[in-house]
Amino acid sequence: MRAQNIVMFIESVKTLDTKSYSRLKEAIGKRDSIKFVSFLLNNDDSNNKKHCPYCKSQSYQKWGIRSDLQRYKCKKCGKTFNTLTGTPLANLQKKGRWLSYAQCLIEGLSIREAATKCGVHKNTSFRWRHRFLQNANLIKPKKLSGVVEVNELIFAWSEKGNKKLKRKPRKRGYKSPKLIPPSNKVFTLFCRDRSENTFDDIYFKFNANNIKSNLKSLLSEDILFCSQNKAAYIKYVRDNKVRHGVLNISKKETVKKDIVHLRNVFKYQLNLQAWMIRFRGVATKYLNNYLSWFREMDEFSYKISAETLLIRAKRPERYNTNHFR
Ligand SMILES: [Zn+2]
Repeated sequence: MRAQNIVMFIESVKTLDTKSYSRLKEAIGKRDSIKFVSFLLNNDDSNNKKHCPYCKSQSYQKWGIRSDLQRYKCKKCGKTFNTLTGTPLANLQKKGRWLSYAQCLIEGLSIREAATKCGVHKNTSFRWRHRFLQNANLIKPKKLSGVVEVNELIFAWSEKGNKKLKRKPRKRGYKSPKLIPPSNKVFTLFCRDRSENTFDDIYFKFNANNIKSNLKSLLSEDILFCSQNKAAYIKYVRDNKVRHGVLNISKKETVKKDIVHLRNVFKYQLNLQAWMIRFRGVATKYLNNYLSWFREMDEFSYKISAETLLIRAKRPERYNTNHFR
């Protein structure tokens, strides 16, 4: 807009009635939030390591601005990209509402509640949820040390959202995990050290060989592995020569020598289960996203900011090294 027109526009604002003024204010608010989110995305720290997402070359030049995002052109392959290309947030619309949506994730709102709060369709809310959480799966501790408490949780296989079930329909829920048929069991393993770093993963068969694939590189050699006296754990510690603090919880053995206990991992699991009630069951194919969502909340003691959540959703690399002890 030319300078002269801007002056005229500002003058015309003075003549607006109340209704038109609030519409203008709302439009400016939306514009401000788009600008702010774009600024945040264009200038996050990981930009220092920016490279062409197609050929990885670090030789590029600025190539205009589109949809409020700085565009670049790779000097090697000639393709253009912006800060979101190749990330889970690429091609999502309505940037102005992303921070409000990140706040909804922090508050653990349902898909419909978040949709209403952000003024988007419920399908958009669903898509955003899983795109925003996609990278959280990659942000897991690489190493746990000291005393590590290990325990599993069992979920029932769920096809929530599928229009055609691969199994016979059943009444909702099981009163106890023991009642879930073996073929429907999904195991989640939690390892939590005393510095409150938590690793989790999902298994469809729970045995020493399966958990070994994760634990071998995750656990330092000198850890104290605290667990219940279950066959998978006993075999794992025996095969890998790890110090084992074993508890027989069914005989009310909850602590040994003040140091061997599972209080922290139990508390984590209870908090997770309490938090998940609001979703009324989650589809197994998305279970990983929910585990990561909760892990992210726990990592920040439920005080993560919407800005941090958004940046982590975009690019996890900077958090993947040395972020955890
Ligand atoms: Zn390139």
